[in-house]
Amino acid sequence: MQSRNIEMEERKAIALVAHDNRKRALIEWVEKHKDELAKHRLYATGTTGNRLSQQLGLPIETLLSGPMGGDQQLGARIAEGGIDLLIFFWDPLDAQPHDPDVKALLRIAAVWNIPVACNEASADFMFSSRYLNQPYSRRVPDYEAYLKARTGN
Ligand code: PGA
Repeated sequence: MQSRNIEMEERKAIALVAHDNRKRALIEWVEKHKDELAKHRLYATGTTGNRLSQQLGLPIETLLSGPMGGDQQLGARIAEGGIDLLIFFWDPLDAQPHDPDVKALLRIAAVWNIPVACNEASADFMFSSRYLNQPYSRRVPDYEAYLKARTGN
């Protein structure tokens, strides 16, 4: 597939999501990185976002709860270029009733080449990257070329 580059600004749009058994871990991680997170625009699925803003007082745009469509809302924003980074503490030890949504979110993040952190260590590494507070040119699928190839127009 042909690709092109889009520019990620210094200030990133960061999505935060955690499954129920991983919410405590995400809250603790966010608490540790609160000052750094406050420099960016934050988004979260419903329950995760409510708990983070109640306990930590961070301004977060909260979407629907994951199983009710929040994962899909985040996926749509990723496809539209509205989310730069995904911190998603998914639960590796328990099945989720909305597994198709979980898979779809992870899949679309891979399609649009956004960095994804699935646990504390990967999120620590993400947050120690020099790109966190710098512009970054991200390679993404060239949708116009994709459409042209499929429709011949
Ligand atoms: P929640 O959704 O933040 O509403 O719990 C998380 C998820 O996608 O399971």
